Amino acid sequence: MSDSVDNSNKRPGKEAFSISQALGGPPRLGHEENPYVNALAQFDKAVGNLKLKRGIAEMLRYPKRELSVVFPVEMDTGEIHVFRGYRVHHSTAKGPTKGGIRYAPDVTLDEVRALAMLMTWKCALMNLPYGGAKGGVLVDPKKLSRRELERLTRRYATEISILIGPDRDIPAPDMGTDAQVMAWIMDTYSMHSGYSVPAVVTGKPVEIGGSLGRTAATGRGVVYTIEEALRLKGVDPKETTVAVQGFGNVGTVAAQCCAESGMTIVAVSDSSGGVYRGDGLDLLALNRHKAEAGTVVGFRGADQVTNEELLTLSTDVLVTAATGNQITSRIADQVRAKIIAEGANGPTTPDADEILVNRGVFIIPDILCNAGGVTVSYLEWVQDLQSFMWPLDQINRHLRNLIVDAFHSVMGCCDVHGVSNRVAAQMLAIQRISDAIAIRGIYP
Ligand code: GLU
Repeated sequence: MSDSVDNSNKRPGKEAFSISQALGGPPRLGHEENPYVNALAQFDKAVGNLKLKRGIAEMLRYPKRELSVVFPVEMDTGEIHVFRGYRVHHSTAKGPTKGGIRYAPDVTLDEVRALAMLMTWKCALMNLPYGGAKGGVLVDPKKLSRRELERLTRRYATEISILIGPDRDIPAPDMGTDAQVMAWIMDTYSMHSGYSVPAVVTGKPVEIGGSLGRTAATGRGVVYTIEEALRLKGVDPKETTVAVQGFGNVGTVAAQCCAESGMTIVAVSDSSGGVYRGDGLDLLALNRHKAEAGTVVGFRGADQVTNEELLTLSTDVLVTAATGNQITSRIADQVRAKIIAEGANGPTTPDADEILVNRGVFIIPDILCNAGGVTVSYLEWVQDLQSFMWPLDQINRHLRNLIVDAFHSVMGCCDVHGVSNRVAAQMLAIQRISDAIAIRGIYP
């Protein structure tokens, strides 16, 4: 291990700060929390129920290609900080790769590998003509000024420009990135091309070729799947209580749409903590409070709860829309929700998943539950390629149809094979990728 990437080697002075802060150290995760180990455990479980050719199953365990980049960015002070980033392509069997870019201080290559693999399954499950990819930069975007964030983004976009392109690999927002970051990537790529290439990213602002409904799409999709689950169980949304972990882009929209569909939102949380009110939270007032205070914590008229307490509240639905590894084997036994809707990627570890499934909890797995984002990304890309603009009601209708169809395919697979929702979703996706590889044939 070179000392430039070892956080434990703390030398005094500026240099130690900039290098160790920017590049990050080795992952310090326990086995249960390594996202790639977890993605492989899920994969192996699904493949155990399929009859794939051994070589194809073996190939799908690994990313097709991985790019690791280290690059300098000039800070507002004139100092130069060095950052590390990744872009990983898991599979290109069904088309160009698709997947978001994550900015977070603790991003690891294993995390990006796992998320790229999940994107392959997610796109296949939704029948989108894409393979899976993911990118990440080890940075806390909240600690950068807007100009620093722009310089970092433009430089990272240039570093990964050898991989991305509208018919090769199309990034999108993920944790820590947003429409503005996509606009900078689109502009940087276009400057290098000499003409505008809107279709190189999705999740852009509408002014430059973004799609109506893209920002809300993930949260909306989450609620479409919850509504289907309630219908399946014969439960009236008006009799349904919901707790939402993560009150960011996905959680805020999910809470709002659940409320519009008649459900009662009794608890929400963000990274600072959560609030609970048994007869329902006033979401309008809560959004106002969050806009002023920067957190839901301190919202008047509600009890304070920790993030962990929120996960174990006795509600009908629990939406996990924060980040990965939230429900672990340590707390899975205490989770009392009947339905878990995975708004985030990888919020439940495989050990916890087994405990919950054995207890009869109905889990709407991440690759189905949060697929609304990439589905509307696909609609955005199609509009860009055709220089066309669809109205919002058409986008939302397409989204609902596609995600409800996928939901019922998963239920059908559960019935036929007697497996859990997650295993069924992965089986469908992996079978489709395997078929695509077999039909294309092995080159040369
Ligand atoms: N980052 C989102 C996801 O995990 C969206 C990806 C995309 O739109 O390409 O699904």
